[in-house]
Amino acid sequence: MKTDKNGNILELMTGDITKQRTDAIVNAANGSLLGGGGVDGAIHRAAGKELLTECKQIREEQLKDEKLPTGEAVITSGYNLPAKYVIHTVGPVWKEHHDNQEYLLANCYQNSLELAMQQGVSSIAFPSISTGVYRFPVSLAAKTALKTIIEFLKSYNFGSVVMVLFSEQDYATYEAVLKEKAE
Ligand code: ADP
Repeated sequence: MKTDKNGNILELMTGDITKQRTDAIVNAANGSLLGGGGVDGAIHRAAGKELLTECKQIREEQLKDEKLPTGEAVITSGYNLPAKYVIHTVGPVWKEHHDNQEYLLANCYQNSLELAMQQGVSSIAFPSISTGVYRFPVSLAAKTALKTIIEFLKSYNFGSVVMVLFSEQDYATYEAVLKEKAE
């Protein structure tokens, strides 16, 4: 599904984010930036070892050995990926009855988009951040992600944003939310 937002494109698709030919892809990283499972592992495998080297360098130099805080984002090269850049952001781990989780997830999208724009990126692909191992409910994540992306695209002349969903079920959830928003 593809929609126009203020002259920008917002697209939903199923697929593997490591194959995307957008200027940048976003990694649902963990705070250590040292790689992990899920989409993080797939991105590191496809990008090659140099990605981990640059992530370690960012930990040391930019983050002074601290973890990347939840909701924040950093950028690296894409190395062997078709994408030129990888933007690493840390989604919130879902905990019931904590009211700042949507805010933290929205920050992931907002900060990634701002960082992309600062780098001159005009096309970006996102995975469904936090809805894997971090257990964020997909429907709430879809509402938060799409609301944040749409607000951003309404404010800026950016280019295109693609949500790359890994399952048909996730795609259907995001599509239902986007259709609701378009009405
Ligand atoms: P988190 O820890 O933020 O929950 P995960 O990697 O566990 O991150 O999952 C985030 C989402 O990314 C899930 O929907 C998962 O199915 C999806 N995913 C896993 N591998 C890929 C991939 N290669 N491309 C796109 N999405 C992927």
